[in-house]
Amino acid sequence: MKFGGTSVKDAGRIRGMIDIVGSEDLSQGLVVVCSAMKGVTDDLIRAAHDAAAGLDAYTEVFDAIRLRHHKAVFDLLPEESANTTWAGIESQLLELQEILHGVYLIRECSLRTQDLVMSFGERLNNQVCAAYACTKNMKATYVDARLLIVTDDAYGNGMVDFTESYQRISRYFEQLWAGGSKNQLAFVAGFIAATKDGITTTLGRNGSDYSASILGAGLNVQDIEIWTDVDGVLSCDPRLVKQAFVIDDLSVEEAMEMSYFGAEVLHPYTMIPAVEKNIPLWIKNTMNPAVRGTKIAKECGQSRHDVTGLAVVKDVALINVVGGGMIGTRGTASRIFAALLKAGTNVIMISQASSEHSISIVVKKNEANHAVTVLRHELTSAIQGRLIQAVELVPALDIVSIIGASMKGKPGVSGRLFTALGNSRINILAIAQGSSEMNISCVIEAKDREQALNSIHQAFFPEAHA
Ligand code: ASP
Ligand code: MG
Repeated sequence: MKFGGTSVKDAGRIRGMIDIVGSEDLSQGLVVVCSAMKGVTDDLIRAAHDAAAGLDAYTEVFDAIRLRHHKAVFDLLPEESANTTWAGIESQLLELQEILHGVYLIRECSLRTQDLVMSFGERLNNQVCAAYACTKNMKATYVDARLLIVTDDAYGNGMVDFTESYQRISRYFEQLWAGGSKNQLAFVAGFIAATKDGITTTLGRNGSDYSASILGAGLNVQDIEIWTDVDGVLSCDPRLVKQAFVIDDLSVEEAMEMSYFGAEVLHPYTMIPAVEKNIPLWIKNTMNPAVRGTKIAKECGQSRHDVTGLAVVKDVALINVVGGGMIGTRGTASRIFAALLKAGTNVIMISQASSEHSISIVVKKNEANHAVTVLRHELTSAIQGRLIQAVELVPALDIVSIIGASMKGKPGVSGRLFTALGNSRINILAIAQGSSEMNISCVIEAKDREQALNSIHQAFFPEAHA
């Protein structure tokens, strides 16, 4: 079970989390992975940056972090246990204070040091959680994930050594659960890891989901539950479409498509360790634990609908490279993409009609101007030779996508999509469908976003709008 920062942000939420954990059958072997309290990772980064900039303000940030943990400890634990737990936490906070002071003195914070600073968030919080579980009659242990998850030294974004990590994970838990009794509940700090030499690293921001997936895979668990603040993966952003509903079952591919296209599911790579071991992932709500949630699994029942969900990527721009000279010419696309690489632009969507008269590239709004400048520069000779007439920029756009494994090979799905948009008089600027037939994406004007999503949602899920 993995609990995100919001679900363990203070004493009240930690109590709620432990209630959920306590309602499980703890004899089967349960590993809990918690994030830092919400905001603590950001605060730690801020403290490190302030210190590196020589700003005394870092001590205030540190004091606030200290106070939050002090409050949680003394709020949650009976006096005696609070005192012992706090003594342990306090000595680690002292270490953090010294590290920050060191950063302040040398006016420099490398990514390696920043990883060490950030690691305190998860470490402290999981110790608090484990201590509290013990007062609730659970046999709980805090486990330092740096003993279990091994990465390279790409600080800030360590690349996991799976072979080594899986070995360490199984060895560790074989010992913890020696004799076959698995009732030792483990609280493992999310997000953090270490190099082979034991230097602290992190798995990248929001890495705790990944930690849970790696630990689950290393232990070949039955299920991995990701506990958040929503009832599951929704058919669409509920802030935009109020009839959005929880999707019961998602295939891994669908979940990946949904997250590529902006839905707040799991980051695609976090799912991979679980997927490789065929372990289902559940998205569950700490505020509403009775609700089933969404199950993400390799094989999932055929969805009831042709379309599983809608996603939107906001704030994009379209770059149209137009030119009669591109027709039947080799290498134009390659030159365009080489130029975009040079510009450091991430391409979100591509579409080229078979007339080959234009290639449309969708990029993030804030990367668009630079991309166009570089494109015009790199394509100068083609522009001068009239092979390319123009590199145009269309700003203020969104991509809306329908996603679903069941639309594969099913005629009429795109027809319904375009009819829905057409009936709402929404103009489509570009369309793309991958040959996996798992999604169809349309570029529309940002001002049409809400109208577009609502009409599409209604067209594919009429009963939710009845
Ligand atoms: N605490 C880390 C972060 O905020 C990791 C996580 O919450 O998953 O990025
Ligand atoms: Mg988080």
